[in-house]
Amino acid sequence: MSAGLPAPGSAFENLAADGSLDPAVKHVALTFDDGPTQYTRPIFEILKNAGVPATFFMLSDQVQANADLVREMTAAGMQIGSHSRNHPHLPGVDVWGQRDQIGGSTQVINSVAGPGTVSCFRPPYGEADAVTQQVVAENGLAIAKWSVDTRDWQKPPFATIIQRVQSSVRDRSVVLMHDGGGDRTATIAALPWVIQWLKDQGYQFVSLC
Ligand SMILES: [Zn+2]
Repeated sequence: MSAGLPAPGSAFENLAADGSLDPAVKHVALTFDDGPTQYTRPIFEILKNAGVPATFFMLSDQVQANADLVREMTAAGMQIGSHSRNHPHLPGVDVWGQRDQIGGSTQVINSVAGPGTVSCFRPPYGEADAVTQQVVAENGLAIAKWSVDTRDWQKPPFATIIQRVQSSVRDRSVVLMHDGGGDRTATIAALPWVIQWLKDQGYQFVSLC
């Protein structure tokens, strides 16, 4: 199940603005940044086997080498967004550079996964300036942030990742995790427990964008 499409040019950090969701049901969106890498397939397999959709904000410079996996993921109901070409700090980059990072990465991902695949952009480090907002809007995209940060990129023990979700998640949260940018063994270890705990709490999973 995919959540409603956010308006182009808009920015959001949780699912609160999504009128397509049943207000009587708790919803949560799991998101994974910085892939695709060697850690993407195990994360994808855990999600697929659990019947859980998620959204992957990918670095397009890593997409061509993983094209078959990316297509397999979209066919299985995973959503793909752009996380730029190669993870720069965007604020201060001129409009041409940001068009390359935002529009260029979107073109690469769409060329691999299919036209119209990408509808959201997640800025590296969550950093956006006025030029970022302008270029995102001119590409028809929305800025997707997050509301629960597992800080898994700091490589905490896997139990800490689980605890951070348990202590922070609420209805319509967007949870940030990573399938790239370093050793993601703890994220992979935590994910089945995170999914089971959220299911036990009555959460329904949606993909973003
Ligand atoms: Zn990132």
